[in-house]
Amino acid sequence: MAENDAVIVNALVRQALVAAQEVMGENGLNTVLRTSGLQRFIGNLPPEDLKPGVKATEYAKLNEAIEAFYGRGARGMLRRIGKASFQYAVREQSSLMGMAGVALKLLPQRQRILFVLNNVVSALKKTNPQVDAWVEDKEGKIAFVEKTCAICMGRHSTQPVCYLYIGSVGEAVKWATGLDYDVRETHCIAKGDSFCRFEIGEPFS
Ligand SMILES: [Zn+2]
Repeated sequence: MAENDAVIVNALVRQALVAAQEVMGENGLNTVLRTSGLQRFIGNLPPEDLKPGVKATEYAKLNEAIEAFYGRGARGMLRRIGKASFQYAVREQSSLMGMAGVALKLLPQRQRILFVLNNVVSALKKTNPQVDAWVEDKEGKIAFVEKTCAICMGRHSTQPVCYLYIGSVGEAVKWATGLDYDVRETHCIAKGDSFCRFEIGEPFS
């Protein structure tokens, strides 16, 4: 896996840490930074730029530390952090995300979902050309797929572990449609699949 150890740029690390702090509070964030070996960011968030921030394996360790910190409640917390991450990205990097909210309102739901997810793919690729991600639209199902998922890099599990990603994908879809859709991780690199795949299900009513 080491040869696959991509780098996450500062802006994305900052986005995740600000989101984690919103959800966990400063003490909670500092604790997981310490337990995941990222104490250099305590009181010292990375700047808003595209320089290398952390290795993907370090980012995965941070996710693991948050999971350990919350125990049974971890999935929900990670999803909330993922949601907050997307909100932060829209707030701080609107030009990078290149999203035209007004034009979106004219499109049917399905097109809006495809639009926002394709924008997330290009935003990710813009921040890091190593990112291998795409939007799948097959047999009536839309899914967001990434081969270079940093959340589970180097991790092993019998079940999918990328809850933070589920939160971000769900929030992106909500941003574009105004609705909460069921998002499920059907494949995960941590359980031996060759990519992480997040399928958009039905909206919750
Ligand atoms: Zn993953």
